[in-house]
Amino acid sequence: MSCSAPLVDAFNRRISYLRLSVTDRCDLRCSYCMPELMEFLPKKDVLSLEELHKLGLAFIDRGITKIRLTGGEPLVRRDMVQLIKALGRKIGEGLEELTLTTNGTRLAEFADDIAAAGVKRINVSLDTMDGELFQQLSRRDRLVQVLQGIAAAKEAGLKVKINTVALKDTNEGEIPFLVEWAHANGHDITLIEVMPLGEVEGERVDHYLPLPVIRDRLEAMWTLEESDYRTGGPSRYVTVRETGGRIGFITPLTNNFCAGCNRIRVTATGELYACLGGSEKVDLRSALRSADPETNLAAALDEAMRIKPERHHFEIARGSFPAQPRHMSMTGG
Ligand code: SAM
Ligand code: SF4
Repeated sequence: MSCSAPLVDAFNRRISYLRLSVTDRCDLRCSYCMPELMEFLPKKDVLSLEELHKLGLAFIDRGITKIRLTGGEPLVRRDMVQLIKALGRKIGEGLEELTLTTNGTRLAEFADDIAAAGVKRINVSLDTMDGELFQQLSRRDRLVQVLQGIAAAKEAGLKVKINTVALKDTNEGEIPFLVEWAHANGHDITLIEVMPLGEVEGERVDHYLPLPVIRDRLEAMWTLEESDYRTGGPSRYVTVRETGGRIGFITPLTNNFCAGCNRIRVTATGELYACLGGSEKVDLRSALRSADPETNLAAALDEAMRIKPERHHFEIARGSFPAQPRHMSMTGG
């Protein structure tokens, strides 16, 4: 197979979207994402800036048109802006979109550089606007910084989408307010069902909130109009007639979207996971560090296409185990 053949899996899905984790570390400890005493990877195992860049280029060569940089928290990595700038040079030359998902705590510092590198849209995770609940949920007192970060991103000309994980009895009652706030500030908002990835304190079932319940409640308040707006990810959107803003729904539990999957994920150590909910993986770091990286990377990507599973099988029930032992912060959200 030619080294630049497009990536197509065994179910004939064209893979065009890479989520690249640049670190598993984070300055928050969101309780649904990781335990307070999270063990992070030794730094020596993490790909260098040059390796991440090389990987990005290899993927673009294989027809990846959208790269989302994520983590852990991408903006805690010191050389992150350099990577954004380096990959940003490929926008319009194979790469259609470079974007990132961030918790926003350090966005105020980096928003201008990110925008200058050619990034147009970013996702910022925000589960609550209540300072106390923010601290309880993320185990850190950073709401003010996140809100400043979002404002700075807007000011820098970045389109900000808010990502909110819907959590039973936690931010459940606040969701309509978050939607109103987001729309009033010109942001779309996507609601996400919590996924059973990695061990966290407590039972997932106690905070799992199926999104159809929330949608019904929002529908009682507003007119939700189906939208064919897509951003290349799994989110399905409605437009709220009264606010003019969009709400996305990511429903891995209640409405499986794997048939249209166009994504692969690479961890900060260069493990390519063919599915967020699966264990199928190939090792890109050893391919990168081999004597013939080009051939070995091409072979590893072909193998990834062969092993990508048809779908995930998430289940959340009392006493059930995580679908995968690794946390979302490891595979990259
Ligand atoms: N630290 C960055 C952030 O929070 O935006 C990027 C990485 S984080 C893992 C990416 C997204 O995954 C966030 O929106 C977060 O809320 C979400 N997330 C983390 N753990 C999750 C889980 N178990 N189920 C569903 N979403 C999760
Ligand atoms: Fe960190 Fe993002 Fe996980 Fe929260 S969701 S702990 S911000 S990686």
